[in-house]
Amino acid sequence: MKHTTGIHHITAIVGNPQENVDFYSGVLGLRLVKKTVNFDDPGTYHLYFGNEEGAPGTIMTFFPWSNAHQGRIGSGQVGVTSFVIPEGSLAFWKQRLDKFNVTNSERIRFGERVLEFDDPHGLHLELVEREEGERNTWSFGGVDSSHAIKGFGGATLLSGHPEATNKVLEEVLGFKRVAEEGDFVRFKSSGTIGNTVDVKKTRLQAGSLGSGTVHHIAWRANDFEDHESWRTHIEEKGYKPTSVIDRQYFNAIYFREEGGILFEIATDPPGFARDEDPTEMGKNLLLPPWLEEKRTQIERVLEPAESRVLEGDEV
Ligand code: ZN
Repeated sequence: MKHTTGIHHITAIVGNPQENVDFYSGVLGLRLVKKTVNFDDPGTYHLYFGNEEGAPGTIMTFFPWSNAHQGRIGSGQVGVTSFVIPEGSLAFWKQRLDKFNVTNSERIRFGERVLEFDDPHGLHLELVEREEGERNTWSFGGVDSSHAIKGFGGATLLSGHPEATNKVLEEVLGFKRVAEEGDFVRFKSSGTIGNTVDVKKTRLQAGSLGSGTVHHIAWRANDFEDHESWRTHIEEKGYKPTSVIDRQYFNAIYFREEGGILFEIATDPPGFARDEDPTEMGKNLLLPPWLEEKRTQIERVLEPAESRVLEGDEV
């Protein structure tokens, strides 16, 4: 029986790239670990945010585009992306979100204190305090490493067929069903980060892809060999995964589960330091070798997007 250790990355579509960077790097204090383009559409960015190393389980990625039409969050999508923060830091984060005029509210879910808010383009996010998960050594602006987001807590899935999605989590990905509360069933994986997935039991109206919605969620494979065996495993379970695609920082396969959500399996290696000095990650536009000859044209169409400390947030 195969099991994933948890979420590798989550990829969403949003609006203006600088607004995206200012929120995830400026407000949330994540590190912009890679500035590249969408390999399938090189006229748009693909921005990756994470902990200092850009470790699997911490990577939130975006296709930002100022002209993107607004999407609608609904079934067939990840509904909420959850980040994990150190225990005792919720009050810091509430104060910080208030300071940047980010409307937020606190509640208890599955016995945990959770802070809910939206990003500037409408993505639903939450912060949850947990002891588990390695501390993030990255400090940025007013967020030092004692409060820094450690990575993903998990995600809430909005399924078009919740029972089937529950089954995929358990029988294909190897999650364990651990709890049920109100309209949600909770699953856990074996990892210490990105290890908690909630599935909403009732089906919502179908979502539509666009700004402010999640495009797909990726689960971790340990290495390239494990990845090949995931592909076989998924085929044996009756799905039609794509062939292995080189995403430069990991290898990927994709398949759509019965609830309509696009799942990916991504390898932990080689990671984001493969084409940049670790201290320089995120500062320059990196292109894969096959797009390097088009650099001038690509740079001409991309809007500015720099990681910067926000005004009034200097330490
Ligand atoms: Zn992906």
